[in-house]
Amino acid sequence: MQKRSSEPKASGRVPTVDAPLFFLDYDGTLAPIVDDPAAAHPHPAIPALLRDLAARHPVWIVTGRDLADVETFFEQAGLLDLRLPAIGLHGTQEGVLGNGAESLASEEATQALAERRGALPPLEGVEVEDKGHAFAVHYRAAPDEGVALGALRDWTEEMPEALEAIWGKKVVELRPRGLTKGTAVRRVADRHPERTPVYLGDDTTDEDAFEALADEAEAGHAVTVRVGGGATAARYRLGGPADVARYLRRYVEEA
Ligand SMILES: [Mg+2]
Repeated sequence: MQKRSSEPKASGRVPTVDAPLFFLDYDGTLAPIVDDPAAAHPHPAIPALLRDLAARHPVWIVTGRDLADVETFFEQAGLLDLRLPAIGLHGTQEGVLGNGAESLASEEATQALAERRGALPPLEGVEVEDKGHAFAVHYRAAPDEGVALGALRDWTEEMPEALEAIWGKKVVELRPRGLTKGTAVRRVADRHPERTPVYLGDDTTDEDAFEALADEAEAGHAVTVRVGGGATAARYRLGGPADVARYLRRYVEEA
């Protein structure tokens, strides 16, 4: 018999709920993934649908991008008048599309970021990428990667409590600790106790939100949907933005 343990979780027809509180990831959920991130326009069915949905229910946009970035797409799609609330930078930013955003990072974390940045050892070929309330240090262009890696490891050893270092492929990112899409969703959901969170996303960082909502989803008090493949803590799954649009349309037609 074939081993099924690696089979991704989540199946069955995604249910609709009476009083939804929508959390919709942008890239890969409302907009198809494209090679050029600057050309990630919403799926053609999405603009009219968001207008219909937002007239009936609270709709939050959730993204790993800076909100100013997503705002551009909403402006081009003629949606800024909806003034949709949004979570940016994987949970470290909150705002309203068309009306600015603020950092959720503590004063302590902001200061610690500036301090760590100032203490970055001078290394040849190392590039710093600014991400607003986080920054990434790339060392792939360093003439001696081993030396760069060693120096960066020493540098992250003295990490202040308020920050975390996330290592990736030839990059280390410093960001405020404990601010994720999960903490953001928890906070917003607590403001709307009468509503049922409905969260759709396709990113690794959306898993933080699926986990934050897992108990409610299990009890039928939240709907969590992973868009696309991959292992997930979400209860349900949809294929891509076209399926997302079909699912969300049911809230307009069945209402
Ligand atoms: Mg996404």
